[in-house]
Amino acid sequence: MQHYALFGHPVAHSLSPRIHAMFAKQAGVAMEYTAIDAAPDAFADALSAFASNGGNGANVTLPHKAAALALCSDVSARARRCGAVNTLTRIDGDWRGDNTDGAGLVRDLTGREQHDLRERRALLLGAGGAAAGIAPALLDAGIRELVVVNRTPGRADALADALGMPGRVHSRYWNDLRNLGNFDLIVNATSAARSREGLNLPFALAYRNTLAVDLGYGEAAIDFLAWARSAHCADAIDGVGMLVEQAAESFEIWHGVRPQTEPVYATLRSELLHGATD
Ligand code: NAP
Repeated sequence: MQHYALFGHPVAHSLSPRIHAMFAKQAGVAMEYTAIDAAPDAFADALSAFASNGGNGANVTLPHKAAALALCSDVSARARRCGAVNTLTRIDGDWRGDNTDGAGLVRDLTGREQHDLRERRALLLGAGGAAAGIAPALLDAGIRELVVVNRTPGRADALADALGMPGRVHSRYWNDLRNLGNFDLIVNATSAARSREGLNLPFALAYRNTLAVDLGYGEAAIDFLAWARSAHCADAIDGVGMLVEQAAESFEIWHGVRPQTEPVYATLRSELLHGATD
C-alpha cells in the first residue's frame, strides 16, 4: 500500500482524494490518498511526519505551494519557473517537487474544451500559487500578451518580473482594470470567492470572443461565471477540468501510468450538476 496526501488549509472541500481514488482503481494501484489540513506554521512539520510514516508523495494546495518548493532538494524546471510546487515525490529520503497546474489547465482548455490559446491577449487575475503555476504554461501555449493584476500590486509585479518576458508580460493595478481594453482570455486565479468577496470586474474587459476561466469550481465559481455570461463571453469554464488534468499529471509522475481523465471528469461534472458536492 502506497501513501499519498493532499496538504492545504483548508482542504475539507477538496475533490482530489476522490479523483486519485478513481485513478487508482482504473490503474489497479493499491494506494491511499488522504487530505491533511495544516496551518502555514505547521506545514513543514506535518509533511515531515507524513514522510516519517512512509508517505510516498503529496499534492500541495493553498497556501503552501511556495513553502513546498523550499522543502525540496530537487525541483523540476517548470516548478522552478513557477516558484511554486503542487506535487511532491519522496525519492531516497528527499522531496522532489514539480508543478502540474499549468499543464493541467492547458490540457483542459486546448484538449477537452478545444480552445486555441495562440495569439490570445490574456488577463490573469491573482498572483498567488495557482497564478504562478499556470502563467508559464499559458505563455508556452502561445499567449501573445499576459497582463497580471492582483489585489496586492507588489505580488503582481513580482510574478511579472519572475516570468522575465517584459515585452509579453505586464503587471497592472486593480484600479486600472477599466482602462486595459478587452481580452481574449480572462483567468480568475483568485481565492476571493472563499471569503465571499466580489471581484467587481468591469464588463469592458470582455467581448464576444472572450474565453473566461475560473480556476475554482462549485460555489466558488458561481459569481465569476455569472459575470462572464453577463459580459457576453463566448465561453465560461470552471476549474473542474483543470483539477482532473493536473491530478492525472501528478498520478503519472508517481505511478508511471497516465489515467483516463474523461470518465472521472464526467462523474465529477454530473455530481456538481446535481449538487452532490461543491
Ligand atoms: P493563494 O496562493 O492563497 O492566492 C490567492 C490569490 O487570490 C492572491 O492573488 C490573492 O491576492 C487573491 N485574492 C484573495 N482574496 C481576494 C479578493 N477578495 N479580491 C481579489 N483578490 C483576492 O491561492 P492559490 O493557490 O493561488 O489558489 C487560488 C484559487 O485557485 C483557489 O480558489 C484555488 O482553489 C484555485 N485552484 C484551482 C486549481 C484547479 O485545479 N482547478 C488548482 C489550483 C488552484 P493577494 O495577493 O492580494 O492576497
